[in-house]
Amino acid sequence: MAEGKADIALIGLAVMGQNLILNMNDKGFVVCAFNRTVSKVQEFLDNEAKGTKVIGATSLEDMVAKLKKPRKVMLLVKAGFAVDEFVKKLIPLLEKGDIIIDGGNSQYLDTQKWCKELAPTGIYYVGMGVSGGEIGARYGPSLMPGGHEAAWPHIKPIFQAISAKANKEPCCDWVGDDGAGHFVKMVHNGIEYGDMQLICEAYHLMRDVAGLKQEEMAQVFDNWNKGDLDSFLIEITRDILKYKDTDGNYLLPKIKDTAGQKGTGKWTGISALEYGVPVTLIGEAVFARCLSALKDERSKASAILPGPSYKFSGNTKEFLDHLNKALYASKLISYAQGFMLLREAAKVNKWNLNYGSVALMWRGGCIIRSAFLGNIKDAYSKNPQLTNLLLDPYFSERISAAQGSLRQVVAQAALVGVPAPAFAAALSFYDGYRSAVLPANLLQAQRDYFGAHTYELLSKPGEFIHTNWTGLG
Ligand code: NAP
Repeated sequence: MAEGKADIALIGLAVMGQNLILNMNDKGFVVCAFNRTVSKVQEFLDNEAKGTKVIGATSLEDMVAKLKKPRKVMLLVKAGFAVDEFVKKLIPLLEKGDIIIDGGNSQYLDTQKWCKELAPTGIYYVGMGVSGGEIGARYGPSLMPGGHEAAWPHIKPIFQAISAKANKEPCCDWVGDDGAGHFVKMVHNGIEYGDMQLICEAYHLMRDVAGLKQEEMAQVFDNWNKGDLDSFLIEITRDILKYKDTDGNYLLPKIKDTAGQKGTGKWTGISALEYGVPVTLIGEAVFARCLSALKDERSKASAILPGPSYKFSGNTKEFLDHLNKALYASKLISYAQGFMLLREAAKVNKWNLNYGSVALMWRGGCIIRSAFLGNIKDAYSKNPQLTNLLLDPYFSERISAAQGSLRQVVAQAALVGVPAPAFAAALSFYDGYRSAVLPANLLQAQRDYFGAHTYELLSKPGEFIHTNWTGLG
């Protein structure tokens, strides 16, 4: 078959695919576009891609014929069934050395499965996390590729060219073998859930503890965005708070307080349970969305279940200062938990993850981009073997300065009766992690009492003992 002229093919002409194609075109690559509903190819060429070098294909065979070798085919279709269907159809059309890249939000286990299945064919498989939504895809996303590493030199020039840049460095680097890229993307999304929940709780506490008006809250977020909390999510929160509807009133209070979710936070929680890592803050963030969805039940319960009569009477400025520090501390704890999960998954799956490079990939282009990720990158650059972010000298100093404020915020929230599950989870984790002694001695005794599960004595490590607690035979 004669070699075609396109550098890469992209299948999936929904919002992400179209924008990524235009981004690749801007960077000088020739892209061949294809879609399950083939009529969308011509529509795209006649409209969004008009005047570009983008070419279209009428079938998968036509698409493959238009590609330079080794052929690179990127999928941006719905995760799961759609990816599986396209991969199965592509296998007989491709040859050894060609590359399939799945850029959707696929589960890392699916990517692991395809890496394994394609290995004997010599076709390389890459599972790439893409973050930044529509605008990121168009102007510079964060890209997290993993899978068959032999593919990387062939796709690196394209993906590093189109990715976001942080301090001129591309927010795209090789993550690791098989499902590593999609796993890192999943944890990124989980962290996004945690960051969003913390910001929502801060907003709730500003409003219902400190009694701030909406314009005052917008001002607080604006100030926060100029300091340590400088991030995309704080910035958009300020803008959302400022936004007025056509009737001149703020839009935010009119929005139903029921959160949706697409599943990546839940997957992070499930992975945390499977790997046995206490990623408590993300777990609480997912459950907070579940609780918010019980709108009717909550409305009924609000008329039946009493709260406290306590009213906050402290200094508002002081409380806002505590809130700022509590948000910083909780965010740090959440990222520490996320990196603990990455470390454990890397150990189990034998991925050689570079944590500094993961932080750099999240530093720009994606939803959790922030100045703070620059400090995380620095911590891992200084010590790639760092066991926990909280133990890095810079961060341990920061958390010790902020922990008192986190206690103030959680205590005030409890006294006033405003739910703050993510802040409370952060504090509980912090206190648990810094405890040399926990009450798990009693737990072990209970397990041994009813189930003869045995326990270990501090004085005899490695020796497991059973006690007949009741004296009964
Ligand atoms: P999407 O709505 O998730 O998917 C639409 C695309 O999938 C269309 O090309 C559609 O083809 C194709 N498709 C759906 N079912 C199919 C099937 N059974 N067989 C073959 N093709 C099928 O599009 P998107 O929002 O652009 O997202 C693409 C991927 O990127 C997803 O995995 C998504 O989770 C991920 N992602 C999205 C965002 C975002 O902000 N939207 C951000 C990061 C990652 P037809 O046109 O023929 O229906």
